[in-house]
Amino acid sequence: MTKQPARAPISIHWFRQDLRLSDNPALLAAAEAGRLIPVYILDDENAEEWKMGGACRWWLHRSLSSLNDSLQGKLLLFQGNAEKILPAFAEKAGASTVTWNRCYEPWRIQRDKKIKATLTSGGIDVISKNGTLLWEPWEVLKSDGTPYRVFTPFYRKGCLNRPSPRKPLKAPSKIGFAEAKDMKGQLTLSDMGLDPSHWSIKKSPDWVPGETGAQDALTQFLDNGINGYKDGRNFPAAENCSHLSPHLHFGEISPHQVWYALAFREHLLEGDEDPDHFRMELAWREFSYSLLYHNPELPKKNLQDKFDLFPWRKDEDALRAWQQGKTGIPFVDAGMRELWQTGSMHNRVRMVTASFLVKNLMIDWREGERWFWDCLIDADLANNSASWQWVAGSGADAAPYFRIFNPATQGVRFDPKGDYTRQYLPELAALPDKWLFNPWDAPADVLKEANVVLGETYPHPIDDLKSSRRRALDAFSELKDG
Ligand SMILES: Cc1cc2nc3c(=O)[nH]c(=O)nc-3n(C[C@H](O)[C@H](O)[C@H](O)COP(=O)(O)OP(=O)(O)OC[C@H]3O[C@@H](n4cnc5c(N)ncnc54)[C@H](O)[C@@H]3O)c2cc1C
Repeated sequence: MTKQPARAPISIHWFRQDLRLSDNPALLAAAEAGRLIPVYILDDENAEEWKMGGACRWWLHRSLSSLNDSLQGKLLLFQGNAEKILPAFAEKAGASTVTWNRCYEPWRIQRDKKIKATLTSGGIDVISKNGTLLWEPWEVLKSDGTPYRVFTPFYRKGCLNRPSPRKPLKAPSKIGFAEAKDMKGQLTLSDMGLDPSHWSIKKSPDWVPGETGAQDALTQFLDNGINGYKDGRNFPAAENCSHLSPHLHFGEISPHQVWYALAFREHLLEGDEDPDHFRMELAWREFSYSLLYHNPELPKKNLQDKFDLFPWRKDEDALRAWQQGKTGIPFVDAGMRELWQTGSMHNRVRMVTASFLVKNLMIDWREGERWFWDCLIDADLANNSASWQWVAGSGADAAPYFRIFNPATQGVRFDPKGDYTRQYLPELAALPDKWLFNPWDAPADVLKEANVVLGETYPHPIDDLKSSRRRALDAFSELKDG
């Protein structure tokens, strides 16, 4: 990276969900426009109730540290209302251009529009680019101009019929940094309090936040996970998933980089099924963003109005048992403890734990969404709210109300050797496979042999799976008929 002539104009690149140097279209534009000042603003004020949860803050701390290293220690950090901070800083720094990659959360769209108006009226150019999605949500529309509400046509007719996603861009070959001294409001990473000591999660040592960690995760996946992905992705103990979701969420890697890295390797793979399926999962992410963009109320309001009448139960004890992984239903508890201990949860188990909360316990999906928001390192407003509405049945293209996962049979099917469940429930480790997912049915001598005392070493189930399923089906079918 070399310095630009001292009198080159100053451009600010505002990093948000694009914490990377490569394939960063707005950063490239800033680097070309002048001497660069890279900035990050932690804006909890505008985010309000959707400010980052604890696990994401843990991740962000490390990701910003890694980005700052890549930027030779030049990243400027601020905390507060970006609407005030950015224009004031741009003016003080004498910037002629401010660049950013677009974000799609409703609060960010509103805020960014205001910031753009303020900057432009002050004579500062604003350049915004797409660094986050393969296709812009306003581009993928049905022939009548309305957004898709069903995934398969969205992907097959909408996305795949559009021009291919753009090819990834290289990192700027030259970045000339401008000095930005004595700027009020600037913080160090530790000032931002993103890594609170009270956060007790034992994060998996495998997570490496930052651009290099993201590229390594992609390589690891293409080397080891993609062959067999279509089936293997359903088994939490298998190594077929990419673990890219937090990297994609924070923009440490772009979906374009993932898309084309896969295309580059495709001829080495056995058949089309695995890569096709993986691309489809990336497209679910695009679909969630499209749903959020066209339905800004997605995180809070049922997409299907009839669900407004659903008789959700208020049951604080059951909610707490679910959060703490103490429901007495092993596959559910394993998932909830994985979430707490690692900041993540396998997709199959997310579906099962969510279904148990919303259907068996009949607790409002927004309670689960909120808990995931705080605990997930990949907590993403679009993916989280669309997925919760999908499981609840209240979403656009949702699972039908009668699909209620049975967590015991799901465990038998997707964790057949019990490796995953035993890892998170060591108190059940000695139970034979046959009873691991339904210890309440196990004969007394089997429990004794395995040192399991229900109600003492492991809880009794908080609800009976059969009758709670029936209760949910009745409530949902009333809704359907009503
Ligand atoms: C109740 C619930 C809540 C969820 N909350 C989130 C969330 O907050 N953030 C999040 O990124 N994902 C969320 N998901 C979707 C999915 O579980 C994760 O994206 C996936 O587990 C991440 O693991 P991976 O990167 O190994 O996925 P892979 O299987 O390797 O998939 C590759 C990428 O495709 C995208 N993707 C895969 N599945 C989905 C999906 N169903 N919906 C949208 N995008 C998908 C992700 O970006 C993922 O990284 C949720 C799912 C459920 C059922």
